[in-house]
Amino acid sequence: MLETNVLETTYNILAIMRGTTVDGPGFRTSIYLAGCHHACPGCHNPQSWNPRSGETMKLREILEIVEEENFNVTLSGGDPLFHPESTKILIDALAEKGRKVWVYTGFTWEEIIADPRLRNAVKNAAVVVDGPFIERLKDPDLLFRGSSNQRLIDVALSFSSGKPSTL
Ligand code: SF4
Repeated sequence: MLETNVLETTYNILAIMRGTTVDGPGFRTSIYLAGCHHACPGCHNPQSWNPRSGETMKLREILEIVEEENFNVTLSGGDPLFHPESTKILIDALAEKGRKVWVYTGFTWEEIIADPRLRNAVKNAAVVVDGPFIERLKDPDLLFRGSSNQRLIDVALSFSSGKPSTL
């Protein structure tokens, strides 16, 4: 059971897509979090870089939507790891409710592992889609990612094996 003060944690949400099939396997609830500093040339959504854009929502409101839809969840943005502490709270709350969480981030897996704040944030995620979008490596045929440098990282396997393991 989550404590009341945790449920009051706030997020700047750009959008919540219900029942989408493009951000991971099966029907999913995709949550787009504001804030990103990677500034990838050719970024699909530069408006998402401003951490104050979008609508402010509390964790309790987000969890209500996720429960209503009853799908696994994808976090995207922006970059969900722009605010690693609050994103950790969100991932942990979703994982506790049995949701498999995919996280799209501009950080590489190696950068995540090297930074305790980022590493801690993704600990309970199922999959991290890592690395910046690189325009010259863009490939529309890739499944669930925009450019070929990005990897679908199996989080549990990568932590246990000590090296990035892809799906
Ligand atoms: S990480 Fe994503 S949102 Fe951020 S600049 Fe790169 S493509 Fe855009």
